[in-house]
Amino acid sequence: MKRIFIIILTLAAFSCNNTSEKSEKLNVVTTTTMITDLVKNIGGDLVEVNGLMGAGVDPHLYKASEGDVSKLYNADVIFYNGLHLEGKLVEVFEKMESSDKTQVALADRLDKTNLIGSDYFASNYDPHVWFNIDYFKEFANQVASVLGEKDPANASVYTENAKAYNAKLDALQKEISAVIQSLPVEKRILVTAHDAFNYFGSAYEFQVVGLQGLSTATEAGVQDVQRLSDFIIENDVKAIFVESSVPRRTIEALEQAVRSKDHDVKIGGSLYSDALGDPGTDEGTYIGMFRYNVNTIVNELK
Ligand SMILES: [Zn+2]
Repeated sequence: MKRIFIIILTLAAFSCNNTSEKSEKLNVVTTTTMITDLVKNIGGDLVEVNGLMGAGVDPHLYKASEGDVSKLYNADVIFYNGLHLEGKLVEVFEKMESSDKTQVALADRLDKTNLIGSDYFASNYDPHVWFNIDYFKEFANQVASVLGEKDPANASVYTENAKAYNAKLDALQKEISAVIQSLPVEKRILVTAHDAFNYFGSAYEFQVVGLQGLSTATEAGVQDVQRLSDFIIENDVKAIFVESSVPRRTIEALEQAVRSKDHDVKIGGSLYSDALGDPGTDEGTYIGMFRYNVNTIVNELK
């Protein structure tokens, strides 16, 4: 009898603990791995972050599972990229608009005057804004301000965390600018599977050529491959790149097309475009991903 009593007490204490923890921490759901990493940096131990997409996942094609929908409905705050990056989730987000949930499309909150226009997306803008570090710094400030509104007692912690994180991004800016300076401007031609790098290109004077267009939802045709293979030969581009979240076959077709015209080109490695690397690795963070991409691109194009 005594033993049963103890067990019941322990269970009661355990479940009590659980609920109190749940109510203390903000429950935040994020979409892309870049945003998940950012919110973990700003929220620290104060928030519970549930990222829907993992490494190597293509956000253009990602559909919400039933599990995702229930995570979204249970969230206090949802952070996503917006500008129709998560094209198949738009409907889910719209359905939830009537609920009192805080939904924040970070890229939609940017000043649109300097964004790159695009006809591919219903938003009319290229959504791959995280490749401009200045925009990612604005994401950090937005995340801190939204978390502070939802959890005013810790608002100053979120602000401080954003400040500290943005200082790291400033250091990253300096570091990669120096690396890119070592590559002559005429060699700065970035050929990849899809046009994820336009903001990167405009920030660092790269000419960016994507085989598939801005979204991975449309496949590259034979004509695109031919046109681009001529471009590579004319400009003597040494390397082209695959991406971790896009199938390799389109870039391999391009490599073959160039070689069939007696010209040499190599696949210069895999870049992270719309998703970070595996959790626990350097490339599993936004900062590590950026550093890896820049070093890979510059080393291969030199
Ligand atoms: Zn993309």
